[in-house]
Amino acid sequence: MTEDFDLAIVGGGPAGLAAGLYAARMNLRTVLLDRGPLGGQLLNTELIEDYPGFESILGHELAAKMGEHARKFGLDLREFQQVSEVDMEGEHKIVRLEDGGEVRAPALILASGGLPRKLEVPGEVEFAGRGVSYCAVCDGAFFKGKELAVVGGGDAALEEADFLTRYASKVYLIHRRSEFRAQPVLQDRARSNPKIEFILDAQLQEIVGEAQVAGVRYLQNGERKELAVGGVFIFVGFLPNSDLLRPHAEHDEIGYFITNRDLETSIPGIWAVGDVRAQLTKQIATAVGDGTTAAVGASQYLDRLRDRATATA
Ligand code: NAP
Repeated sequence: MTEDFDLAIVGGGPAGLAAGLYAARMNLRTVLLDRGPLGGQLLNTELIEDYPGFESILGHELAAKMGEHARKFGLDLREFQQVSEVDMEGEHKIVRLEDGGEVRAPALILASGGLPRKLEVPGEVEFAGRGVSYCAVCDGAFFKGKELAVVGGGDAALEEADFLTRYASKVYLIHRRSEFRAQPVLQDRARSNPKIEFILDAQLQEIVGEAQVAGVRYLQNGERKELAVGGVFIFVGFLPNSDLLRPHAEHDEIGYFITNRDLETSIPGIWAVGDVRAQLTKQIATAVGDGTTAAVGASQYLDRLRDRATATA
């Protein structure tokens, strides 16, 4: 079955939900499709302290609030809808769903976010779900009283290392350099946490164990070392979920979409917002700003299409 809308949004994180809220409030017939529950990366974040107006709010609470807010303006929110393909037919964008359904709209906003980057060391795949994790909020509680390794030196690694000390007896933060790219506030918090020990200038080489993770091997200043840990949390960056459109739209070498000032991709009528777009930061505030810009851009685009149709009628 094909359903027609003015605007389709793929992805229900902060960028998609903000776009949906604005679009619905501008009376555009808008549908938002997410392959999982609403919230995107918000669901992998325990506490949010850097979204203006909310001194401190849980990630899943903010996700629920954003969803309710957008619904109130009439956004058609559909969870657990896996998109299999995006196609173009003239001015229409066709979003095909794995369940066989189809959504058609002249405007499409891609807010599909991304997934954690893999470290690509032996043991990572073998022990996934058996001690290797990419989400502290999801899995931290399974590691009560254990010693853990966290890998990475960005915001996610420093923030999640601190979070994991709620459960773990000790967290070793293994980073390949001695400088961190994480924000100073997160570095200070981790440094002042007595349960966190830094292992710097160290490259993790292997994750070992039998049924479960039992340790890691790493190289530090040319010396091979081993550490006994009950789990490994990997936070070495993020890769965009841009496969749906990557063959058609301009993107950078990693796969992030390149957009113009209005966040439109190289394909007219398709916008990219939030973590799937090439930009400086991946913050909730920027994602929300992106969603807003794209919704307004989409509305103006639809007006232009209508004007053109009227002029040629
Ligand atoms: P990131 O900022 O890209 O940091 C990735 C870290 O992993 C870097 O320290 C990097 O080391 C390291 N790394 C990458 N590849 C590696 C490899 N093969 N082996 C070992 N280490 C490797 O990623 P992120 O921390 O996931 O953050 C992604 C984005 O989300 C950022 O824009 C961040 O600001 C944002 N974010 C914000 C918050 C917050 O504001 N509270 C929380 C989480 C994430 P090098 O430094 O040596 O390159």
